[in-house]
Amino acid sequence: MSDAILTINAGSSSCKFEVFHVAGGVPEMTLRGQISGIGTNPVLTAKDDHGTFMAEQSYDAGTSQSALMRDLLAWIEDHLGGDHLVAAGHRVVHGGRRFFAPVKVDGAVLAELEALVPLAPLHQPHNLSAIRALAEAHPGLPQVACFDTAFHKDHDDAASRFALPRELHESGIRRYGFHGLSYAYVSRELARLAPEVASGKVVACHLGSGASLCAMENGVSVDSTMGFTALDGLPMGTRCGALDAGVVLHLMQAHGMDAKGLETLLYKKSGLLGVSGVSNDWRDLELSDKPEARQAMDLFVHRVVQNIGALAATLGGLDGLVFTAGIGERSARLRAEVCRRLSWMGVVLCPSANDRHGPCITRPHSRVPVWVIPTDEERMIALDTLAVLSPPATTKPSLELAS
Ligand code: ADP
Repeated sequence: MSDAILTINAGSSSCKFEVFHVAGGVPEMTLRGQISGIGTNPVLTAKDDHGTFMAEQSYDAGTSQSALMRDLLAWIEDHLGGDHLVAAGHRVVHGGRRFFAPVKVDGAVLAELEALVPLAPLHQPHNLSAIRALAEAHPGLPQVACFDTAFHKDHDDAASRFALPRELHESGIRRYGFHGLSYAYVSRELARLAPEVASGKVVACHLGSGASLCAMENGVSVDSTMGFTALDGLPMGTRCGALDAGVVLHLMQAHGMDAKGLETLLYKKSGLLGVSGVSNDWRDLELSDKPEARQAMDLFVHRVVQNIGALAATLGGLDGLVFTAGIGERSARLRAEVCRRLSWMGVVLCPSANDRHGPCITRPHSRVPVWVIPTDEERMIALDTLAVLSPPATTKPSLELAS
């Protein structure tokens, strides 16, 4: 019997999960799925590692999250193929100033994570309610929180401070950085694919529905475009990205907007959607012939290029660039436009490699090599979870066999 790890990435209305079979300390995904429509019409869907459909199950609208978790666990236990579920690892957006590494969750940890809800009001509550629901459904199952902020723990004072009065910084109003699980995975993969690049100065571009850049030196994050919340930096699918704070004051004072209205505007109605008026989905913008769709894409490229320049300046040079996440991994057009604008840095794109989506998409003589590395945050959660639990959890089955 081998160990299995469950990973959970819980959002406002959906909960994505993956199950990993662990052999020799290496997690291999065996099935994945999600419960969508939580709070409205929940549906559990799942596929195996080949993408073959395994389940589609609907629930009553009023089904509680813990009842859904109980059912999910029962379904997973039935499909473990003899493996033994030893732990669940959760993506938790904010670890604040206290959690710089994955941590096993107990009552005290949960209370501390609750206190961070105001720092990530749209994400943290859902991450934590999944932990609570799973604890109710399976009280004995160890749960590990894996933080999106943790990878950025080494940022120096200048990279983590806003130019605000000191007491606000001390109270936690500082730049944290997010997408850390993705960057941790990409950094590991780059070290495997191109160690000579990974040991240098690298900017990684996580371009998906949420988008950010991370400056890394020898695999360690030194700066990020994301700050206090997941609103900062690049424009995103529906989020505005970095914005003159004076705009927020103006919207309050001249347009009478309150916090709720601003939250909806800045998180849900801005970004690619707000500018294009067409869609928050990059694929729709590429297919649209509306000039506003083109403007939204041009703005996105402009800000990506501008921020790569800023992070290269933080690093004092650039030895490599990495694209990841939905748009970064799959839009050859976006990558071609960004690379064309970076030709002054010595980026020389190989169009055929770019059309094939990499992994390396530049010519051998390109001064800055550019890579496409598909991210896998769930695998990173599984690895983090194993690291927290081992040796006790991973040795448990053999102890059972021995007794
Ligand atoms: P998240 O996990 O944050 O929801 P993803 O990393 O899946 O986001 O990225 C979603 C984005 O990727 C969307 O804007 C979508 O349009 C874009 N995307 C997905 N597939 C493609 C593709 N084949 N070509 C261009 N963009 C794509």
